[in-house]
Amino acid sequence: MKIGLRIDVDTFRGTKTGVPNLCKILAKHNLNASFFFSIGPDNMGRHLWRLLRPAFFAKMLRSKAADLYGWDILLKGTFFPGPLIGKRLADVIADVSNKGHEIGLHAWDHYHWQTHIDTMDRQTIGRSLEKGYDQLMLITGKAPVCSAVPAWKCNNKVLLEKERFHFNYNSDCRGRSIFYPVVGGKKMSQPQIPVTLPTYDEVIGHKGVSAENYNDYIFSLIKPEELNVLTVHAEVEGIFCAEMFDQFLKKAQTKEISFGPLGSFLHGNIPVGKSSIEPGKISGRDGWISIQV
Ligand SMILES: [Zn+2]
Repeated sequence: MKIGLRIDVDTFRGTKTGVPNLCKILAKHNLNASFFFSIGPDNMGRHLWRLLRPAFFAKMLRSKAADLYGWDILLKGTFFPGPLIGKRLADVIADVSNKGHEIGLHAWDHYHWQTHIDTMDRQTIGRSLEKGYDQLMLITGKAPVCSAVPAWKCNNKVLLEKERFHFNYNSDCRGRSIFYPVVGGKKMSQPQIPVTLPTYDEVIGHKGVSAENYNDYIFSLIKPEELNVLTVHAEVEGIFCAEMFDQFLKKAQTKEISFGPLGSFLHGNIPVGKSSIEPGKISGRDGWISIQV
């Protein structure tokens, strides 16, 4: 049984510290994964600062956001413009590519996308994709083969704009199976490989899930006959929960679970259906996210 392993990199700190840590852990277990990079300014501090609202404060305390992300992330871009991740940390990103991992585009500006996507027109969306795509190509010397929108915030305008790029697939939503998205009755050309499993911050502290039993909880959600895709974050599993993630990969071996980049699912002869992507809610996450329906 194989789990698709997706690594989201949202911040400067995640790129600088979390990514090399994850590369070491993956090398130790002889694994490859898909890395989705945020490549432009790191303004995530702005985002996390805004989240200091009562509803979110509970989650901050529950997941110990400051421990999880580090205060430097919480403050990044709050008082000063955020640093350009792709410029300052190009060597880290190039190194991941040279190690043979799959390289995908996550965002130009993660914060801007997740807070403004509802009002962005096609041109703005296209420009944001283009900036990230071009910068990644400049750094790695090859075009990114896939993409994944920040915070699972996708819409039909995004899907239409992505058609201009030659992505082998996109991973823009939560769902259950690989599918071609349909927009206005028309089937798009790039398949979607949805994420099927929850992220750390969505479940920790809920329903008795703690750091002690988190790995077992994730194993319990795996469906042997179906698509399984797990997202880990460079900021979380690469730093704060690195040891726990290492244990997860180790324990998976005893369960005969293997891991691979998401693109490896496309090599088999699996049937790819059609679905649409709609906004919906999932527990543990604030606001809407894109869901396969
Ligand atoms: Zn992200």
